[in-house]
Amino acid sequence: MPLKLTLALLGLAAMGAGAETPEPRSGESGFVRYWPGELPVVISVPHDGARTTAEIPDRTNGVTVRDSHAAALGFALRDALVARFGKAPHVVVCELSRKKVDCNRAIAEGAGGDPKAEKVWHEYHAFIDDAERAVLAKAPNGLYLDVHSHGHPKKRIEVGYLLKPADLRLPDERLDASVATRSSIRWLSQRTPSTFAELVRGETSLGGLFAARGLAAVPSPGEKLLAEDPYFNGAYDIEAHGSREKSQLDAAQLEVPVTMRDTPEHRTATATAIAEALETYFSKHFQQKLR
Ligand SMILES: [Zn+2]
Repeated sequence: MPLKLTLALLGLAAMGAGAETPEPRSGESGFVRYWPGELPVVISVPHDGARTTAEIPDRTNGVTVRDSHAAALGFALRDALVARFGKAPHVVVCELSRKKVDCNRAIAEGAGGDPKAEKVWHEYHAFIDDAERAVLAKAPNGLYLDVHSHGHPKKRIEVGYLLKPADLRLPDERLDASVATRSSIRWLSQRTPSTFAELVRGETSLGGLFAARGLAAVPSPGEKLLAEDPYFNGAYDIEAHGSREKSQLDAAQLEVPVTMRDTPEHRTATATAIAEALETYFSKHFQQKLR
């Protein structure tokens, strides 16, 4: 095997990505990478950065907890989509520690006014914009998934659409009547033949399709969000790159529990189930075939 290819494969193995993974594009800072793809799906991972630098001060404002295994899960999802559809999603990863930058917050909180941290933040969002443009150049619409890890007591995927817990507890008629415009799937809600309640918590919602494949999820037909349940409903990434404000990709934040992400086997099982769910989700709501 030629040395260059051997080195490339070693690099990929070290990173945990699939053997077909192309060279990523890298931002000037060196801390953000973008693996372009062909599917109308964009995946980002803002909070699993393992790298650090003395050139950027530690953040003093906001959460700095790392999302363990989130990047490995993002790559497992990429591999599962390639295996199922023969095409890759777009993947954007921030490799810099959340102690230095939080790309899933507005820049003032996320970069704390540090110019180098701001550069990383801008590169991350520019790559997601590039990925969205690449999707919309080939397809009429697409889906953006922001991948995170949570440590909440209930081991279920928390699917966030920017809707508050109080919204999710509304009866179907009220959810259908007024809530879609506040969500990161606003544009999809106008295109799907389904009701908004179905899109958010029905059998063919992301949560419903995940749950039918063994991945407990909320919202979904079988899981309620109780008043005492902690729940992440999504943040800056899906506000900026979802369809609440404009007709661009529809978006959801996926917060994955430890039991679905902690080992390679669990990540593969989770990713395989999500890939299968996305096939149905796209054909039902996007009226697009991923195959
Ligand atoms: Zn996170």
